[in-house]
Amino acid sequence: MPRYAVISDIHSNRHALEAVLARIEDFGVDQVICLGDIVGYGPDPEVCVELVSRNCSVVIQGNHDLAVMDPRYTAQFNATARKTLDWTRNVLETVHLDALCRIRSLEYLGDLVTCVHDNPMPGPMTYVYDQQVASNAFRAVDTPICLVGHTHIPMVFTTRVSLVEDDMDVRKVTAYLPRDGVDIQLDAASRSICNPGSVGQPRDGDPRASFAVLDLDRWTFTVHRERYDVVGAQLALNRRGLPDVLAERLAIGA
Ligand code: ZN
Repeated sequence: MPRYAVISDIHSNRHALEAVLARIEDFGVDQVICLGDIVGYGPDPEVCVELVSRNCSVVIQGNHDLAVMDPRYTAQFNATARKTLDWTRNVLETVHLDALCRIRSLEYLGDLVTCVHDNPMPGPMTYVYDQQVASNAFRAVDTPICLVGHTHIPMVFTTRVSLVEDDMDVRKVTAYLPRDGVDIQLDAASRSICNPGSVGQPRDGDPRASFAVLDLDRWTFTVHRERYDVVGAQLALNRRGLPDVLAERLAIGA
């Protein structure tokens, strides 16, 4: 069975992405899966689109990727995000925009894994951030594993298949906060929603880049944290005239 590296929410942070891709090489996985938000917030959208196109076999569209291509979606973002989205749209060349256009919002890896950016529930983008939301989201998952990003916080939610029904509630869902390098055991008789955290803008108080390895031989999901050149990313933000707050949050993982 395949082993996948799972990356998400890169947000134009090439320093973090390069560090994560180098570390992923050590794992010798079969494929790298990207759950979206390649661009937005960060200073190097062109390189990040190119690196993802070259290294990832499956790429999902995030809300920032969508808003870069279609300005009608920009209104729902805060002022800082809007500013970088408008800037990103201007610096990307046709070849990058074409690559973003080709990606889809939902993909399956065989019969076992669903890939989305935010939430398997159809409709507007929402965050799967707690057991309450996850209990609802499970009703839209029909594979043992669903990979999501969007929250920028690594998390795993599980429930038994036999419990997934209309009156699904929070007590039937177990939540895990993955620790660096520690396996979380999944199994085929459960449903699991797994979030690898964010490569380029972690928000769980740990500034290290976050990604995961999903091993379908051992049925494990393992989050890994990787140090990268945060100062280099901050200087790049500065050079490209993007808001200071974006550089400040990289240092504290918020
Ligand atoms: Zn994001």
